[in-house]
Amino acid sequence: MGGVAQSFGPFSVRRLMDGVFEAPVADLRHLGGSGPLAAFTAGVAGSTLPMDVNCFLLRSAEGLTLVDAGCGSAWGARYGHARAAMKEAGIDPGDIDRVLITHLHGDHALGLIESESAYFPRAEIVIPARDFAFFTDEAQRAAVPAARRGGFDVAARVRRAYGDRIRLVGEGAVTEGIVLLPLPGHTPGQAGYRLGSGENALVIIGDALHLAEAQAADPDLGFIYDVDPVIAGDTRRRLLGEAAEQGWALAGGHLPGILRARATEGRFVLTAV
Ligand SMILES: [Zn+2]
Repeated sequence: MGGVAQSFGPFSVRRLMDGVFEAPVADLRHLGGSGPLAAFTAGVAGSTLPMDVNCFLLRSAEGLTLVDAGCGSAWGARYGHARAAMKEAGIDPGDIDRVLITHLHGDHALGLIESESAYFPRAEIVIPARDFAFFTDEAQRAAVPAARRGGFDVAARVRRAYGDRIRLVGEGAVTEGIVLLPLPGHTPGQAGYRLGSGENALVIIGDALHLAEAQAADPDLGFIYDVDPVIAGDTRRRLLGEAAEQGWALAGGHLPGILRARATEGRFVLTAV
């Protein structure tokens, strides 16, 4: 349940697979409308697109860091396997020093909680300030369609469970060797976390991309899960361009492993590292 460790900067990084989400093809949208959407879906066999649900375990001189926390027990027995993977690796919840959250959706942050209490008894919880501000704003909750309201309850529960162990962060350095990159759109304050630099850098991108191949080829393709689909498309294009130029490797909440972006013939391609 999780790959071998790979090194980026001072970090050894291991992907922990929490489960597999079957995303309904009916949840896809395209910024260009129904024509380009139909062109894509015509090539999809079946009514769902399976995607991994991932979080990441980092080891360094600074201790043990998780990036995202999976679903925990919140989404039933098909999810929450990241906890078992950590146990198998001999890691106790109390061993985790900090958890960096990319955005406040359940499949990334509910693993922080068990029975409304903190699952990680000692960890500092690092959350992008902009995402926390959005998902704790009752006026925003009322303004967002019901299907996109999940983050508001997640934020309230995380706040109750962790209180002053939450540290809100903005763009730039968040902890030794880790830099926050704003990746808005999927949620207003979604963040990527960059470890290391240049060709030895890895950016963990949350849900800036859900589908590696399809969204690299066409960044205007997205899911209804994006709170602001136009900004999400802009972010995908900008991120892929920068990753291709800088040589960054990318990993995400739903990507199949660690990938590298390349620009070729006017489009992007993601290939396994
Ligand atoms: Zn997600």
